[in-house]
Amino acid sequence: MELKTDLYIDGQWVKGSGTLPVYDPSTGEVIANVATADDAQCDAAIDAAHRAFPAWAKTAPRLRSEILRKAFEIMISEADYIAELISRENGKVFSDAKGEVLYAAEFFRWFAEEAVRTPGDFRHSPSGDKRILVTHQPIGVSLLITPWNFPAAMATRKLGPALAAGCTTILKAASETPLTALHVVDILHRAGVPKGVVNFVLPAKSGPQVSKMLHDPRVRNLSFTGSTEVGRILIRESADNVVRTSMELGGNAPFLVLDDANVDEAVKGAMVAKMRNGGAACTAANRILVARNVAEEFTIKFTKAMTDLKVAPGMDAGAQLGASVSVKERNKIAELVDSAVSAGGKLHSGGKSPDGPGAFYPATVLTVEKGNPILGCEVFGPVAPIVIFDTDAEAITLANDTEYGLISYVYSSDLARAIRTAEAMETGMVAINRGVVSDPAAPFGGVKQSGLGREGGFAGIHEFLETKYIGVEI
Ligand code: NAP
Repeated sequence: MELKTDLYIDGQWVKGSGTLPVYDPSTGEVIANVATADDAQCDAAIDAAHRAFPAWAKTAPRLRSEILRKAFEIMISEADYIAELISRENGKVFSDAKGEVLYAAEFFRWFAEEAVRTPGDFRHSPSGDKRILVTHQPIGVSLLITPWNFPAAMATRKLGPALAAGCTTILKAASETPLTALHVVDILHRAGVPKGVVNFVLPAKSGPQVSKMLHDPRVRNLSFTGSTEVGRILIRESADNVVRTSMELGGNAPFLVLDDANVDEAVKGAMVAKMRNGGAACTAANRILVARNVAEEFTIKFTKAMTDLKVAPGMDAGAQLGASVSVKERNKIAELVDSAVSAGGKLHSGGKSPDGPGAFYPATVLTVEKGNPILGCEVFGPVAPIVIFDTDAEAITLANDTEYGLISYVYSSDLARAIRTAEAMETGMVAINRGVVSDPAAPFGGVKQSGLGREGGFAGIHEFLETKYIGVEI
C-alpha cells in the first residue's frame, strides 16, 4: 500500500512547503518525511472546506452515512497494515495498535448509523400561542486537532461525527504521528468523500498557524484532543471569534481497590487500565489507591504482572510493552519517577531507562505517600504509583484531589458500594470492576480540567451540530 506523505487539500494530494521527519521510536530511525503546510496552504484548506460546506450540509444523511460505512469497511480490511503503521510511528506494540484500529473503525460505523438519526422536536408552547420547532444544523468548517497517543482513533472519533453531522473538516494530526492520520484521510478519499469535505494539513509551526486558522471567521468549530496545557491555549485562541470548542484533555485517573475487592480481578483490571497503550492514554490509571488490608497482596501480584511484560519493539513477536513515542517523552517519564523516589517513593520494579537505542522505559511500580509529587502529574507511560488508604472516605478524597476529572476506576465486590463510590467521583466516566470503558456507543469525556463536551455515544454528533429553534405562529 502506498504511504501517504503529502497534504490533502480540496480532494487532491499536494506537495507541502517543507517536510518533517517521522521517526520510529523503537530505533530512532527516520521512516518517512511528511509534507508541512505554510500559511497559504492552511488558508487553502479553509477555503476548500468553506466552499464544500453548503453542498455537504445538504447532502442526504443517508449518503453521508453510506460513505462512513464504506470507510469503516475499508479500515477493517486494512487493519493489519494500519496497525503496523501505528506501531512504527508511535512505538506501541502491534496488539495495542490492532486494538486501536478496530476501535477507530467503530467510530465510522457508529456515526454512519447516527447520521440518519438526528433528533428534532415539535411541541405546543406552554402559553398555547405558537408551536416550538427544534432542529439541528451542522456548525460549519471544523478544525480537528489530534494527539500522538491514538493516531487513528482520535482522528475517526472526530471525523466520524463531523461528517455525519454535515460539517466539513480540516484535520491536523500530531507532528510525531501523521502517517496514520494521512492513511485515515486516504480511506475517506477512497470511500467517496467529495472534494473539500476533508482536508489534511500539518502546519510547520502549529502554535502560530493554528492561531491564525482560529482567527479566520470561516472556521466555526474546534475539536481538540491533547494536553490540558495546550487545550487552555486553544480555548483562549478560540475566544476572539467565539469559535465553538470541544476539548478532550488530560487525565490523572485514580484506580480504587476497596477492601472487599477481588484482588485477582483488580490486578487484571489495573493491568489494562494502566498498561493499555504502554500507559500512554488519557484514561491510564495513574494513581492506584489500595485499601490497607489488601495492599500487600495487590502490590505483590500487580508487580509480578508488570515485570512479566515483554518489553520489545512494537512489531516484535510477543512484544507487550513497546517504546514511548520519543526519547523526549521517555525522559519526562524517567524524571517523574526519579522525583517520586527522591520524595520517598519505594520502587518495586523498573525505575531506570535501559541503555541502547529506542525510547524504552520499563514497567515500573512504586509505593508512595500522599502528597508525593508524582500524584499531581499525568504520567504518560508504564509507571504505577500505589497509595495505601484506610477508609472509603479517605480514598474518595484522595481520588478527587486533582485538577483532572476524566475517568476513575472502582473495584469492590459490593455493587451498591461501588456505585455510591462512583457517584462521588469527580470524573466524567467511571469504570466499575473493569479496566476499560471506551466504547464508540458511549459518551467519552471529562469534567474539571479534563475537558468540555463528549465524543461518541448519542452526544458525539451534537459537538458538530447547532440547535435551531423556530417559533411558528399558529
Ligand atoms: P499536546 O502536546 O497537547 O498536542 C496535541 C495536539 O495539539 C498536537 O496535534 C499538537 O501538534 C497540537 N499543538 C501543540 N501545541 C499547540 C499549539 N500551541 N497550538 C495549536 N496546536 C498545538 O498533546 P500530546 O502530547 O500529543 O498528547 C498527549 C495528551 O493528550 C495527554 O495530556 C493526554 O491525556 C491527552 N489525550 C486526551 C484524550 C481525551 O480523550 N481526553 C485522548 C488522548 C490524549 P504538534 O504535535 O505539531 O505540536
